[in-house]
Amino acid sequence: MSQQQAAGSFWQGVLSQIRDRVTEQQFDTWFKTVEPTSCSEDTIELTVPNSFSREWLRKKYADLILGAAASANGGRRPTLRITVREGGDNEPDDVAVMTATAEANGARRGADQDADHHAVLTENVGAARPHPGSSSSTASALEAARGAWLNPEYRFDTFVVGSGNRLPYAASMAVSEKDQRVYNPLFVHGGVGLGKSHLLQAICAAWRARRPSARIRYVPCEQFINQFITAVEKGALESFRKRYREVDLLVVDDVQFLAGKERTQEEFFHTFNALHQRQQQIVVSADVSPREIPGLSERLVSRLRWGMVCEVEAPGYETRLDIVRQCADRLGQELPEEVSAFISESVRTNVREVEGAVTRVIGHAHLSGQEINIAEAREVLRDLVVERRRRVTIDHIAQAVTRHFEVKLAELQSKKRTQAVAVPRQICMFLARRLTGLSLEEIGGFFGGRDHSTVLYGVDRITARSRDDVALRDTVEQLATQALSVAGS
Ligand code: ADP
Ligand code: MG
Repeated sequence: MSQQQAAGSFWQGVLSQIRDRVTEQQFDTWFKTVEPTSCSEDTIELTVPNSFSREWLRKKYADLILGAAASANGGRRPTLRITVREGGDNEPDDVAVMTATAEANGARRGADQDADHHAVLTENVGAARPHPGSSSSTASALEAARGAWLNPEYRFDTFVVGSGNRLPYAASMAVSEKDQRVYNPLFVHGGVGLGKSHLLQAICAAWRARRPSARIRYVPCEQFINQFITAVEKGALESFRKRYREVDLLVVDDVQFLAGKERTQEEFFHTFNALHQRQQQIVVSADVSPREIPGLSERLVSRLRWGMVCEVEAPGYETRLDIVRQCADRLGQELPEEVSAFISESVRTNVREVEGAVTRVIGHAHLSGQEINIAEAREVLRDLVVERRRRVTIDHIAQAVTRHFEVKLAELQSKKRTQAVAVPRQICMFLARRLTGLSLEEIGGFFGGRDHSTVLYGVDRITARSRDDVALRDTVEQLATQALSVAGS
């Protein structure tokens, strides 16, 4: 293996740790474009596309990177060197997003956003400033930054299809390939790391390939929100609207962030209408279904449900095994069959973790110079396996809830609908949705074979009631903590 390959696998191991500690947006913005050139026990050398990224990584993330490297390195902290890639700051960007200069600023904002808008806006001022020492290269540096949003690896042909994601995959393909608007909007929801962004970006890539002149816009919802706020402040609403309404395909990732942002919601609502009326395609993702997003206006919920709403579910064993193989393949390394099986068996929650486990195993083998074998794999993934034992299940939740309300599990699973049983049951459903990867159907199954709409109703009730009812909200929080501690014990 070349030095570069070795550096690559070591870096993948570092990345998989960083992933757990930053938001997805931060990860996508700041870490996807980093390339390792050499990694040894003493030094890590990374290259980045522009000086802005370099400064940002140096200032904000150096500790995180070094900490992760140290733990992948047996505790020893290497030196970190970050340089701008040759041709960096000037590289043309060939990503399929149409993005104005200002938008790339937005990308940066999104990356460091806090829940609090004020914090975001103050942060923006510095972040949005062109990086030092350039005026002519600013635009291209900004373009490079915007590229961070579309990952060239997120395509249909790299998407492993299994029972948990067949429907969203088929719907995404249909949206990309059919010239009629078969599903408009397409709404894809599901837990973290299950491939929503992958599918959404695959749609963009496929549209681009099929319709080279189409105006395509992919935007993480947080970025949409930030740009809207900035546009309002600067009185630049007109250009904001132009940017989002004069497109053929608008893809908005993670719209659960619209929760509680009333003005942005309203703007999004009008954007939606404008596009939908002209039969332009809209694709949206969120971590839950439209009705489960708290604080989303009724009229927006209803629009989001106009087309196709589908869920990506956690992959089953076979799918995980396919993903393990594909991932190893991409890293240029064949895994012994029992190692692939072990990883697929041990890492169950989401695809991102499966990929993280594969890169850790391979990275570790390269560093230690040993063949990959099952004993090594077990050792390397020991913490993940322990982690799994700690994961909350619906039984943990039921245990905490039945104890608190002094009801029997059998009653929750019965047909009884008295308040005294219905409320704890709905709380269980709500918590199961939040804390486990179970689908609505699976949760319904646990409660005596109720159908998914009953579960959805239960989740809705708790979401709606806990908005005003502080006591209920506290109880739910408390029960969540208890379920987590039952799971951890
Ligand atoms: P989400 O947006 O749902 O949180 P992502 O789309 O970011 O999840 O997926 C997390 C990681 O897992 C990505 O690297 C993605 O490419 C990969 N991934 C998810 N689902 C699949 C799949 N079915 N086949 C191949 N890779 C997948
Ligand atoms: Mg995503």
